[in-house]
Amino acid sequence: MVSRASRPLTLLWFRDDLRVTDHEALTAARDDGDVVAIWIREERDTEGRGPRPLGAATRWWVHESLQVLGAELDKRGIPLLFAAGTATQIIPEVAAELGADTVRWSRRYAPASRALDEAVARELEARGIASEDSPGALLVEPWKVEPSSASAYYKVFTPFWNAARQVSVDLPLPAVKAQSLPQEVADRVDRVRGANTHLLAEVDDLGLLEAGTGPASTRFSLRSGEGAGAAKISLGEGDPRFPWWEDTIARHWTPGCVAAHEAVDHLGERIAGYAEDRDIPGDPEGTSALSPRLRFGEISARKLLAAVDALGDVGAVDREAWIRQLYWREFAWHLTYHVPDLDRRPMRPEFAGFPYEDDPEALAAWQAGRTGIALVDAGMRQLWRTGWMHNRVRMVAASLLTKNLLLPWQLGEQWFWDTLVDADEANNPVSWQWVAGCGADASPFFRVFNPERQRARFDPDGVYVRQWLEGDTGESAREVDAGDSDDGSAGEQVPIVDLGESRQAALAAFDAMKSAQ
Ligand code: FAD
Repeated sequence: MVSRASRPLTLLWFRDDLRVTDHEALTAARDDGDVVAIWIREERDTEGRGPRPLGAATRWWVHESLQVLGAELDKRGIPLLFAAGTATQIIPEVAAELGADTVRWSRRYAPASRALDEAVARELEARGIASEDSPGALLVEPWKVEPSSASAYYKVFTPFWNAARQVSVDLPLPAVKAQSLPQEVADRVDRVRGANTHLLAEVDDLGLLEAGTGPASTRFSLRSGEGAGAAKISLGEGDPRFPWWEDTIARHWTPGCVAAHEAVDHLGERIAGYAEDRDIPGDPEGTSALSPRLRFGEISARKLLAAVDALGDVGAVDREAWIRQLYWREFAWHLTYHVPDLDRRPMRPEFAGFPYEDDPEALAAWQAGRTGIALVDAGMRQLWRTGWMHNRVRMVAASLLTKNLLLPWQLGEQWFWDTLVDADEANNPVSWQWVAGCGADASPFFRVFNPERQRARFDPDGVYVRQWLEGDTGESAREVDAGDSDDGSAGEQVPIVDLGESRQAALAAFDAMKSAQ
C-alpha cells in the first residue's frame, strides 16, 4: 500500500513532446502539484497498437534529446524515468507503484497510437487512477477542420489550408516552473525504480544506439495488396551498413529542447527570402532545418507560429510561405488521423496493383547514392551523412525510385524512415505517396521529375552536388562509403537508368495498372 504525498502526484508520460516550454500537459501537472516523468521505448502490443517503432536515425536523435530533457526536468524538480516495453503494461503499473493520482500526456494522432492511448486510459481507470490528455503537437487538431462535403476529411491541401487557417491558435505557454520534489516522493521514485523490472537506470539502458537494429537488419514484407499476390521484398544483407551516427549525423546537429529554442532566435535569418530560396538545395540557410525538432516536439508548432508572426523584419510573403509549409505538416497529420496504415497502403487503392519491379541492386544503388544521377546521389549522401535531405531533393530522389526505377514507394519510405532524423509517422508516408502519385492531392503520376533538369534549375552552379559528392567536411571514407564501392565518388558513374526510356516505361506501367482495373 502506497502512502500518498500531501500534494497530488502526476505521472507525466512524455512521447513526442520532449520540451518544458509550451507544454500543456506538463503545465497542468505542475499546477496540480508534484510531477514524475517517464519516457518509454515503446513496442507495439499484441494487437498492433502503439507508435511505429523508431528508425535508426531517430533513435540516435531521441537518445540525445532525452538527456537534455532530463536535465531540464531535473532543474524543475521532476525526475525522468526510462522504460522499454509495452505502455499498456508499464504506465498503469508504474503509476500505481508511485501512488500517482493522475497520468497525463500530450495527444498523439495516428490511429494505432490513439488505440493504445485509449487502452492505457482504460487500464488506469480500472486501477482508479485518472488520466488526462492535452493537445500539443499540432496547431489545429485533426477533428477541428471538417469539410462541408460528404467526405470525413480533407483530401486536397488548399481547401484544408483555407479552413485550418480560420481556426484560432492559442498563444504558447511559458516554460514550466521549478518546484522542489518532497523527499518522501523522491524516496518513493527510488524504490519504484529499483523494484519495477521495466524501469531502467539511465537513457543508455534503452539500447537506442545498439547495433543490429538499423536499416541493415530491417526486414519487412511489402504487401502490394490485400490477400493473394503479395510481393515480398526485403531490405537485408548487402545493404549499406548502419553507421554509427555519432560519427556523422552528430556533427551536424545538437538535439534537445534547449538548442531547439535557441534555433528560434535565428528563424528570421533562415526564412528571410524563403519564398524564393526554399527550393535551392545548395543554400544551407534556405529553410529552417527545424523538422527534427518538430518531429520530437522539442519546440511546439504554435511557439514557432507565434515566433514567425513576430518577425517584423521578414516580409509577409516569406512568412506566409513558411507558415504554409507548417500547415503541410498539419495536413499530413489530418490524413494520418483519418487513414490507417499510410506507410504501407496507398490512399488510392488502384495503386495496390501497380506493376512495380523487384530489383534489390537498383534499390541498394539508390540507398547508397550510387545511381550515377548526380542530384539524387548528392541527396542520398546528404541523407546518409546528416540524417536530413533538402525537400526539393527528397522529391527528386523519391521520383527516381518510384518512377524511373519503378521500385515500390514503400521501400523508399522505409529507407527514409531509418535514415532521416525527422522521420515522421505522418510527413514521411504522406510525402512518399504524394510523389508516387498514389496519395492525397498527389502529384499526377505523369509528373516524373527529370533530375537533370531539376539540377540545372535549382543547382545551376553545382554547389549542392559538389558539396555532397566530393565531400565537404573531410569526413572519413568510412562515413562517405555508404555502399560497397571503395572510392566514395559517384560523379563519374554511368547512370543506372536511362531517364527518357524509364519515364516511358513508368507511364506504360501506369497505363497497365489503369487498364487492369
Ligand atoms: P522548412 O521549409 O523550414 O519548413 C518548416 C516546417 O514545415 C518543417 O520543419 C516541416 O515540419 C514542415 N514542412 C515543410 N515542408 C513540408 C512538407 N512538404 N510536408 C509536410 N511538412 C512540411 N518531413 C518531415 O518532417 N519528416 C519526414 O519524414 C519527411 N519525409 C519526407 C519524404 C519525402 C519523400 C518528401 C518529398 C518530403 C518529406 N518531408 C518530411 C517534408 C519536407 O521535406 C521536410 O519537412 C523539410 O525538408 C524539412 O526541412 P525544414 O525543417 O528546413 O523545412
